[in-house]
Amino acid sequence: MTTAYKPTDTATSELAAALEAMGATLGYDPHFVHADCEWCPDQPRITEFRITRRPGPGFQHEQDEAEVCLFCFIPVLRAALDERTESDDAPIYVEHAGGPR
Ligand SMILES: [Zn+2]
Repeated sequence: MTTAYKPTDTATSELAAALEAMGATLGYDPHFVHADCEWCPDQPRITEFRITRRPGPGFQHEQDEAEVCLFCFIPVLRAALDERTESDDAPIYVEHAGGPR
């Protein structure tokens, strides 16, 4: 379950602002279950983020969700952002494991 971030430190505030500028919303999941990242090209790292593309009622596609490690976070987020079109700009949410620090 996503809980909205109330950033308490500069790094988190900057990450939230950067994601906002890219068109994604930052939240966190205090119950995030870490696992091996399936996006890693070689040795899997441990997942830290969930990227969700959540279509509204008018959208054609299913909800997309990827759990990724820090290493895979940017490329997968970039791909999710690039896949959006004018007619299908489902909002993208980024959830970080654990919560605010
Ligand atoms: Zn990875």
